Amino acid sequence: MLYPALEPSLYSKLSKLWGQPSASYTVIAGILGWIVYRNRQALPFDWVVLAFGLFIVACGLTHVMHVITRVTPLYWLDGYVRGLTAVVSLATAAALPPLVPRVTALLSAERTLVEQQQDLERVNVALQEAAERSDLLAALGDALQGAQTDTDVQLTALDRLGPALGATSMLVALLDGQQARPTVVWGVPTGRPAELVAQDGFDVQQVPVLARSLQAGSATYLNEGQHLPGVASSLSGAYGLEPIFNAAGQVTGGVAAWRPAGQAWRAGEQDLLRRAAATVGLALERTQALSELARQHEALSEANRNLERSNADLDRFASIASHDLKAPIRAVTSFAELLSARYAPHLEGRGLTYLTQIRTNGYHMERLVDDLLLYSRAAVTSPAFAAVDTATTVQNVLTRLKPDLEGDVTVTLLNLPAVQGDAAQLDRLFQNLLSNALKYRKPDPLQIIVRAQAGPDHTWQFDVQDNGQGIEPEYHQRIFQLFARLHHREVDGTGLGLAICRRIVQHHGGDLWVESTPGQCSTFSFTLPRLPQHA
Ligand code: ADP
Repeated sequence: MLYPALEPSLYSKLSKLWGQPSASYTVIAGILGWIVYRNRQALPFDWVVLAFGLFIVACGLTHVMHVITRVTPLYWLDGYVRGLTAVVSLATAAALPPLVPRVTALLSAERTLVEQQQDLERVNVALQEAAERSDLLAALGDALQGAQTDTDVQLTALDRLGPALGATSMLVALLDGQQARPTVVWGVPTGRPAELVAQDGFDVQQVPVLARSLQAGSATYLNEGQHLPGVASSLSGAYGLEPIFNAAGQVTGGVAAWRPAGQAWRAGEQDLLRRAAATVGLALERTQALSELARQHEALSEANRNLERSNADLDRFASIASHDLKAPIRAVTSFAELLSARYAPHLEGRGLTYLTQIRTNGYHMERLVDDLLLYSRAAVTSPAFAAVDTATTVQNVLTRLKPDLEGDVTVTLLNLPAVQGDAAQLDRLFQNLLSNALKYRKPDPLQIIVRAQAGPDHTWQFDVQDNGQGIEPEYHQRIFQLFARLHHREVDGTGLGLAICRRIVQHHGGDLWVESTPGQCSTFSFTLPRLPQHA
């Protein structure tokens, strides 16, 4: 088709009019090319984008040719340009369909990515909440460590749990058989600190929502509008209860929480309440054990005070009794002495024998009373513990026994340490054992060895060994009983010496025993506590 020649001014206007879209096509294509070039690593299908760019440029050229052919009829060139545009557009159109599934896959991958991102965010929030719950439980555990009583435990727990659960009110109820007692409430009105309510117990069966959880040992969570099967509940808002267990796995109570309407229980919150109830259960066990311990301690202290009182009474009684007993005995022995001094020459043989019997028995009686007093004192008087050098103690005893040691007696002291003990009682202990070794000797030369060696449980074990008459095995226990004597007539004694010794050793936390071969030797062994720095 032929076009009429244009006016130059019209041509200039047309050039501007058509030139602008052409420039736009070129700019668009240029920007596309530049984007592809810059992002060629990350951009999928960059060649398709390039093809698009080429297509746009070709379209732009078509427009340009449209203007040119108005002025100069270069139809052949216009034909090439249109042909090129057709080829490019066909090639682009042919390349596009195979791309559709890939683009769809890309888009769905993008959607999946977004969903995954949202899932991740949700997990992140859940993890953060779980971490906060763990922190809260750890802080609760720490706070409960300092609680001294059941009430402290409940108050501390509810003060921390109430705000964390967003509860309007909370309650701890402790079970006592079929009865339950609400002991501590929190948040009535909302947010008020926990306080103790001293309400009377009530039958759990009267409160089905409690009875169900506490008897089955299972949690109950009711959201807005939910009811327990068979129970018409007038609850508004959400209600949750977790049972409290003791170490034996028995239900001892429950922790209940009420939440405002519209705040349903979430799994994390139920988990928090369950774990908090377990922590409260442990803390209650601990405080109950503590108060039981305190009760036992108080009972023990009371028993000790009573014992001390009765010991003091007994001690007074023993002193008075011994004093009152000794006075008539002394009178008897004194008069017997007087009789003997003044009237002995006037008495016949039998009279003299009677007088001697009176004196001897009087003195024996006096020794008996002394020994009985010693025995009772060893039982009731608390030993005054201090460091006692046993080598010195034994030396002092030997000095007092000197008249009996003369002649064929050898005493060997080996490794005698200082011990923790009552000096007067230990003196009596060594005195009794050494004088027995001297009393129950054979006619042969007597050898006594006193030695010490490390004993069990921070003690020293002492041995007092002699080569005297020895003791038959059947008497090894009996000789420690009151008034037990194997040598009744021939040797002077009260039968209380070893009983006193055993009591003294027992008062020092030790033990006394004998090993002996009849006719050959005896070894009396006992343990005494070491000094603290050597313990
Ligand atoms: P007592 O010496 O006044 O009889 P003890 O209680 O000291 O009372 O001793 C009880 C008995 O144990 C003595 O009568 C004696 O038979 C026996 N006995 C004690 N020590 C020895 C010893 N070293 N050797 C042999 N027998 C002993």
